[in-house]
Amino acid sequence: MIELSGLKVSNKEKKVVLDKMDQMGHEQVLFCRDKETGLKAIIAIHNTIMGPSLGGVRMWNYKNELEAIEDVLRLSRGMTYKAAISGLSLGGGKAVIIGDSATQKSEALLRRFGKFVDSIGGQYITAEDVGMGPKDMEYIKLETNHVTGTSIELGGSGDPSPVTAYGVYMGMKASAMYRWGCDKLDGKVILVQGIGHVGEHLVKHLKAERAKIYINDINQERLDYVANKYGAKIIDSSLIYDLKMDIYSPCALGATLNTTSIQRLKCEIIAGAANNQLEDENIHAVQLKEKGIIYAPDFLINAGGLINVYSEIKGFSRQDSMKSTKNIYNTTLEILNRAEKDGITTNQAAISIAENRLEIAEKDNN
Ligand code: NAD
Repeated sequence: MIELSGLKVSNKEKKVVLDKMDQMGHEQVLFCRDKETGLKAIIAIHNTIMGPSLGGVRMWNYKNELEAIEDVLRLSRGMTYKAAISGLSLGGGKAVIIGDSATQKSEALLRRFGKFVDSIGGQYITAEDVGMGPKDMEYIKLETNHVTGTSIELGGSGDPSPVTAYGVYMGMKASAMYRWGCDKLDGKVILVQGIGHVGEHLVKHLKAERAKIYINDINQERLDYVANKYGAKIIDSSLIYDLKMDIYSPCALGATLNTTSIQRLKCEIIAGAANNQLEDENIHAVQLKEKGIIYAPDFLINAGGLINVYSEIKGFSRQDSMKSTKNIYNTTLEILNRAEKDGITTNQAAISIAENRLEIAEKDNN
């Protein structure tokens, strides 16, 4: 189903959306527009077989509406796989608000977005993503109960980043166990690219294991702070793909794994928090396999944040979230072994396990 709430979408674009929904298996896309607040948003529900769709709302200054559509369709599908591989009773969804979060975000705009979320009646549950913070979730919560990730004071689960970082750390250790037969990271050269909320927590775990940590970020203040606090070495952006390292951990933006970077990369394992690390999952997962680099699928090992908001919905504690997130270690090992046995990429192995769970759930529902 495609619903247009006044957002201008040409016939050609409508066809593009419907074709893409067909190809990617989306259930519903809601286009939202409000003249008074200037809101332009798209909510994509990819799959609700396992439960209501859940995924953050991203506010981003997209170049055009098609770019926003592409992003929301891709991200919502990723959420379906992330929930399925993590064994959660949740479906996949995501929302984007088109605009500059620094200058165009307002209480009125967020509340109007909350009303659109509410209008779907719980089939989509929203949360924080890029360009959003806990305060924004509080505004959305004024209009709908279908929101997670509010502050602990308001009964929410608070900042998910420590849980996400713990999951990435577990995925990294499992990959080390698979590659080297030992999961100790002592002395391993590890580059963390992006030392924001998740990156810093990850660095903390790595420091405790006495890894040799390199960090890269576009924010010099953060670099100086993390370098001083954890004794990490700063590396310039122009040099990161030439650094001889054991583990590369992308924790900033997506699509850093592309033909150019893969040719240059000198590492044995890739395990990071960023979403959609593979620029093209069909081409670049294969290139990594051919180069003998172990790739821990991003949607598997960065699921700690989702596990955390799932706990919020279920009324579980932070301790419960950490316990479930620890299991990312076992799932990662299972996937790496499955990929080797079946001669497929680790990304394919993870997707096929997730799709298998979805098929079973669909049969059970019928
Ligand atoms: P953040 O915004 O706190 O940190 C991102 C950091 O990356 C910032 O310090 C930023 O300066 C840096 N950065 C941006 N562009 C860069 C570039 N080109 N090169 C190097 N550094 C760059 O975000 P976060 O919450 O730490 O999330 C990091 C990544 O993990 C994001 O891709 C996010 O989508 C993903 N993720 C986060 C969570 C979570 O719980 N926060 C959960 C799942 C996935």
